[in-house]
Amino acid sequence: MFFHKNRLVRCVYSLPVLIVYFISFMNMVFLHKGYLDQNPQDDYAMIKCLIVYFATITGVIALTKTAITEPGEVPLQFDLLEESFKESLNTEDYGIERYHATVTYCRKCDRNRPVRAHHCILCNKCIMRMDHHCPWVGNCVGIYNYRTFVQLVLYAWISTSFVAGACGEILLREDGQTDNWNFAGFVVSWALFVMTAMLTVYHLWMICENSNTIELTFHKHYNLFNFGSLTNFQQIFGPPGLHYILPIEFSLNPEAGFIYPIKLENLKGETVYFTNKVLI
Ligand SMILES: [Zn+2]
Ligand SMILES: [Zn+2]
Repeated sequence: MFFHKNRLVRCVYSLPVLIVYFISFMNMVFLHKGYLDQNPQDDYAMIKCLIVYFATITGVIALTKTAITEPGEVPLQFDLLEESFKESLNTEDYGIERYHATVTYCRKCDRNRPVRAHHCILCNKCIMRMDHHCPWVGNCVGIYNYRTFVQLVLYAWISTSFVAGACGEILLREDGQTDNWNFAGFVVSWALFVMTAMLTVYHLWMICENSNTIELTFHKHYNLFNFGSLTNFQQIFGPPGLHYILPIEFSLNPEAGFIYPIKLENLKGETVYFTNKVLI
């Protein structure tokens, strides 16, 4: 959206993102005005401040990365890539009978796309493993920026929980010396804490189930992509490393987003009719 050719569209879609940057800044202000200024003697002030600073700065970096990362647009040469990925498949990887669901067709784009890619009407293109279009990051959330999106909500949760706790501590003090900064800090950060807590739990649950916001209703009875929490988690976060907790550079497998292993045992007696190609 930041790279949209229409200047007006760029401005309109940038506005919610600027609001999130402003809220992050205000979170720091609330920490200082609503807590530190009124309780400079707190033994744990330094630790609380370091945690809030670290979580807020890391969250802002994750926000920026989610906003500017290409979320997973289906490349024009998708059909060729799909053929090459199919040839390189190692069906022994999972030690079980392994199938790969591959291609669906988008009527709006009028071309093939990988299974789990969905068309975003705002971006007007198909995004691989699309979760949703998020106005707060001004971008679609797809295969390449889902990791940093989850880190963003996680760090926002950590940061706001400490500010809400610190401001709440002053508010509930027996001497009753509070001011508007303290009260506003508590209300705003508490509201954000509840919201980001729900979002973090929801997205971690989606990752562990190998589902997402768009596919949730399809996966009500069975989910062919579910290989257990650890494998599902690694499809988004890759092998263990610092990139699990930090929004640093990391490259997924080249075939990520293009082909997906599916587990037919997950059908649990349900009958499924594939209208698309399913490859062994
Ligand atoms: Zn499309
Ligand atoms: Zn979009």
